[in-house]
Amino acid sequence: MKAILLPGPGLPFTYATVPDPAPGPGEAVARVLACGSGLTIHHARAGRLKLNHYPRIIGHEIAAEIVAVGAGVDSRDIKVGDGVTAYFYFSCGHCHWCRIDRETLCENFGGYVGRESDGGYAEYIKLPARSFLKFPDGIDWRQNPAEAGVICDALATPVKVIRRARITPLDTVAVFGAGGGLGIHMLKVARWARAKKVIAVDTAAAKFETAVKCGADITIDASAGHVAEQLREATGGKGIDVAIDFVSNASTLEPALAALGRGGRLVTLGGSGKPFNADPAKLLRDEIEIMGSRYATRQEVMDTLELVARGEFKALVTDKAPLAEAEALHQRLDKEQTIGRAALVMG
Ligand SMILES: [Zn+2]
Repeated sequence: MKAILLPGPGLPFTYATVPDPAPGPGEAVARVLACGSGLTIHHARAGRLKLNHYPRIIGHEIAAEIVAVGAGVDSRDIKVGDGVTAYFYFSCGHCHWCRIDRETLCENFGGYVGRESDGGYAEYIKLPARSFLKFPDGIDWRQNPAEAGVICDALATPVKVIRRARITPLDTVAVFGAGGGLGIHMLKVARWARAKKVIAVDTAAAKFETAVKCGADITIDASAGHVAEQLREATGGKGIDVAIDFVSNASTLEPALAALGRGGRLVTLGGSGKPFNADPAKLLRDEIEIMGSRYATRQEVMDTLELVARGEFKALVTDKAPLAEAEALHQRLDKEQTIGRAALVMG
């Protein structure tokens, strides 16, 4: 099969022919129709994220069709011809956290599709059968595979944030990094959740038009500085109820926290790894909550697929390229030229 190989951290992709995968016991193989190109996997291409094995086929936001199943796979779970996407995490399915639908905290976490295993930047993908999730009726995965493929992360991650931060129609929500692939979808899902006001914060003003189309009522250019003051102004001095930060360094987390009003919630989804300052007096006085939110559970992905199938919202893929052009697409991601999600669409 044709595949895109990442030969090492930060190295350009190579377009190569590799052996077709064959399913072992408990595994299945799917023909990939499309695979999303989110920032998580771009970090691997750019070398900011080291993998344990090279060369590696990266990618996990797939729309695919099952073409072979190994021994012991129950046909009620997966069978040839099923349209599927993938659950990004290799979670065990039986520890305490997996059992209570918090499997992003799995005690036996086995890594990620496209990092610890080969992923979707190829004509075929082999995974444990339980890593494939069937598309429900109502998702046109054959006609629009790129939009179907990215649901499992670009939309499922925001759906989880809505639940985790308990966003209701009474809340004003600000999204930091709103122009990025996840940020744009967070705006859409916050709008869908009927948040009172949705505010897009980004440094790239060129992305604001799309942000407004995706549900932002107000846009704030963070490159002008004074973000907390601008947010307070936008809420008549009250402060925002929920800040969702996809950038998550001190220059976003600190103004996000400062902009929160009473009972405010700060959700961080980025991994800069650097500390930031929080004033405990404000946390106490205003009963502020700071929380991390990590991807989504299998059930949350399935719920999100169901919501898309019902027409509640849909993914925005603005940059599509054939498999052979993965390198050029990632060059565009590197320059942050992409608004919304990018995806590879196989021939
Ligand atoms: Zn587990």
